[in-house]
Amino acid sequence: MAQEKTFRFDTQVIHAGQSPQSWEGATLPPIFQTASHLHPTAENLSQTFAGQTTDHIYMRLTNPTNRVLENKLALLEGGQGAIVMSSGMAAIANTCMALLRAGDEFVTGNSLFMSTYMLFTKVFSKYNLTARMVEPTDLKAIAEAINEKTRFVFVETIGNPKLDVPNIREIGQIAHQEGVPLIVDNTLATPFLCRPLEYGADVVIHSTTKYLSGHGAVVGGVVIDKGEFDWAGGRFPDLKPFIDRKGPLAFLDKIWREHHINFGTTQSPFHSYLTTLGLDTLALRMERVMKNAPLLAGYLRGRPEVTWVNYPGFKEHPSQATAVKQFQGRGFGGLITFGLKDQTTCFKFISGLRLIYQLANLGDCKTLVIHPASSQYVSFDEDTRHSLGIGSDMIRLSVGIEDAEDLCEDLAQALEGLPR
Ligand SMILES: *Cc1c(COP(=O)(O)O)cnc(C)c1O
Repeated sequence: MAQEKTFRFDTQVIHAGQSPQSWEGATLPPIFQTASHLHPTAENLSQTFAGQTTDHIYMRLTNPTNRVLENKLALLEGGQGAIVMSSGMAAIANTCMALLRAGDEFVTGNSLFMSTYMLFTKVFSKYNLTARMVEPTDLKAIAEAINEKTRFVFVETIGNPKLDVPNIREIGQIAHQEGVPLIVDNTLATPFLCRPLEYGADVVIHSTTKYLSGHGAVVGGVVIDKGEFDWAGGRFPDLKPFIDRKGPLAFLDKIWREHHINFGTTQSPFHSYLTTLGLDTLALRMERVMKNAPLLAGYLRGRPEVTWVNYPGFKEHPSQATAVKQFQGRGFGGLITFGLKDQTTCFKFISGLRLIYQLANLGDCKTLVIHPASSQYVSFDEDTRHSLGIGSDMIRLSVGIEDAEDLCEDLAQALEGLPR
């Protein structure tokens, strides 16, 4: 383990956390398909329940295959610990709820993944928990939204579908000045583009369903803790027992002990296995997506049927400068949004595609298309859709790893099939 730090990311993504020696030479982790584990003595089981060993007890609590993935993802993001969960939403819900008490508030960007938006507005409001939503690129608005009830700041590395890129370093500084942690949903960038913990975020969350597993085969999530936030600093007296028990990993312990275990948001070890397998090609897949995305964005911009194209890789994009810095020059993400005349035209276009799949997913190795206003956001009222930047003329493309020319040809034939 000690020498892994010297490898570069694209090597680490394959080799970090692998231990074939302890897997009878296997180069992929064994799938421990077992609900519970045998304990040799009553003393051992008691010590394990008391948190004095890292042995496994019961799958809802921990599982050896899940732990392999947890160690690997913690290393890839530069965190001290991680917990995999049944979905990205499980990771978001557990992480936020572990910090929120009735009456608390938090500050978040207003361009959020659809289910996160629903959780923060419709669900949390039932428990008197208030999400103060601001433009995540407006640092002044973030600072002004923080008050004595604020428990954390939450942003996504690339807003979806607005494709805005907040400045993590500066938001982290604002949060820390006020004594609250910064939580970042890094699903759309992945650690290939961006490692938020290195820019000052305290906790990173992923939907592993997307780029990390990469094949649209599983649903999963993870929360990764940097282990450096000062929980004893004043606002978090409720963290005290967890600090006493786990020191720097107090917050991860609270998420695990209070929420993950008791809500039962367990990840299947088979999903962890497939995610570990998918991670082997993360760097390769991301490289190809980062090569394809600007080609497709540029192609769409040159088509007369396309009224506008939003892609952070364009020079004039308001988030371009932040994205260049924060994503290490490796790219601008795999999402592109663009406009056609109206919803009817969007529907005709999508139905005319032959290669590109219409799917409610993203981050797959296949290129995917969706009309957000009539699908994920169909139950939202017009005003809310407008504030989230979702017009009825908008199409979202999640760029995959196919040959870019074939993708452009598919876009072309579907565009040419539209009424003039
Ligand atoms: C998909 C997604 C989620 C939710 O993840 P699930 O695995 O579907 O629960 C959260 N955040 C972002 C940015 C996502 O793309």
